[in-house]
Amino acid sequence: MSADLLQLENFIAGQFTAPLGGRYLDSVDPSTGSAWARLPDSGADDVDAAVNSALNAFPSWSAKSAVARSQILDAIANQIEQHLDELAELESRDQGKPVWLARAVDIPRAVHNFRFFASANLHHLETATYQAEFSAQNWTIRTPVGVCGLISPWNLPLYLLTFKLAPCLAAGNTAVCKPSELTSVTAWRLCQLMTDAGLPAGVVNMVFGRGATAGEALVLHPNVPAVSFTGSTLIGSRIQALTAPMVKKLSLELGGKNAALVFSDCDLPAAVETCVRSSFTNQGEICLCTSRIFVERSVYNEFLRQFLEETAKWKVCDRRDPATKLGAVVSAEHRQKILSYIESAPASGGRILCGQTLTDAAKLPPELASGFFVLPTVIVGAETDSDGGLSDEAPCMRDEIFGPVTCIVPFDDEAEAIKRANSVKYGLCATLFSRDASRIMRVSRQLQVGTVWSNCWLVRDLNMPFGGCKQSGIGREGAHDSLEFYTEVKTVCLRF
Ligand code: NAD
Repeated sequence: MSADLLQLENFIAGQFTAPLGGRYLDSVDPSTGSAWARLPDSGADDVDAAVNSALNAFPSWSAKSAVARSQILDAIANQIEQHLDELAELESRDQGKPVWLARAVDIPRAVHNFRFFASANLHHLETATYQAEFSAQNWTIRTPVGVCGLISPWNLPLYLLTFKLAPCLAAGNTAVCKPSELTSVTAWRLCQLMTDAGLPAGVVNMVFGRGATAGEALVLHPNVPAVSFTGSTLIGSRIQALTAPMVKKLSLELGGKNAALVFSDCDLPAAVETCVRSSFTNQGEICLCTSRIFVERSVYNEFLRQFLEETAKWKVCDRRDPATKLGAVVSAEHRQKILSYIESAPASGGRILCGQTLTDAAKLPPELASGFFVLPTVIVGAETDSDGGLSDEAPCMRDEIFGPVTCIVPFDDEAEAIKRANSVKYGLCATLFSRDASRIMRVSRQLQVGTVWSNCWLVRDLNMPFGGCKQSGIGREGAHDSLEFYTEVKTVCLRF
């Protein structure tokens, strides 16, 4: 074992604990391609120990008043905020994203998740009715579900983990978390910060390792009645199948293939700026990124011209450079997957206008040669685009690539744009660009997605439900919805 690698351990019953099997995995820095940390390759026995710890902590944590739990969540938010620079550097190194992005988005959002749910839990969701004909009073009681299994992906590691953890704890549950094996470092660091904030031992347990072993043992554990999972549709549907015989409570936030619809009456430069940002932010590794842009034919050529001009400003550089727009993608395997979609696009009628073609790759600075970098890539259809452009069946239009790759195609009328936007198996989000409010209202109703952004992107209010339809998921997260998921509601009837 190399002494200069950061060594992570599981966090069980308030203690950093070596995995029972003694096995570790390397975690690779995507910007250099070299291992920089080691994490436990945990197995079912580690998961079992973590679930037992969470079970032991449950009676006293769930018995605390909402105010007492809220104070601890606020203290966790303060700890994260006080370590913002350190956490942003760790997140950037582990995931590949620019440091400024982690500093501006990922870590502040983790702070907000704890602050928001600390307060949201103080507002009651209970209902009551009186039935005069029976002289009966009915009311609801909410109780925590128990030990929750929280499984998170690698693209927004601390941001998405804390979006589960904060409401889970606020509602009085205890947790066993399984972060992505590719990006476990900020979750591990969070364990110490939560302890410093006064979180009692055992309330949060962290088991690191692979999905097929640690993750699957967690979802199958009989003492874990609820599983909140964010990740791919493939694994989400596997978890649904595995847990069906146990009738577990499941929240599934899955993949997307999100469309933008650009109408000719929009503010075109603003639409271009937003679509470039929504296509390439975080290297395109956000489930909400846009990867299909449908543009009304009368403005298509001008949109494309401005889009390519704006994309040229999105530099792929060192993650520590404040001018860097895109860092490295998360792993060599993921880079290979993205490149295979780009390279196969011409076979399904695609033209690559800029990005990761072989000649463009040579533009990368030599010091980035061993990292997993991909240039922002734009794919369009045939030379004239007099028809519908790229086919909806082309793999780059149909599959979630989850990288800095976007397709741009023309459309002729509103009905066609809606039909094409809805043609994929996913239904996570869409963006609309138009100055016509009645059009926005009409089109929003017809899009089969969980969120529609109009003339903006990624403006998130935690008060609002978030989630996907079709194969983008089951359930919603947000102030009300998360607290619904993390509680059981009981009706009590009293006749007097
Ligand atoms: P993934 O499905 O491969 O892994 C997600 C997590 O599940 C990881 O922690 C992984 O170790 C674990 N896992 C893998 N196999 C498992 C199994 N059999 N049982 C239990 N756990 C298992 O996803 P990823 O590659 O880490 O993340 C990218 C995907 O996540 C993309 O599809 C993206 O769209 C999606 N995503 C969705 C949202 C959303 O809110 N809808 C947000 C972010 C990412």
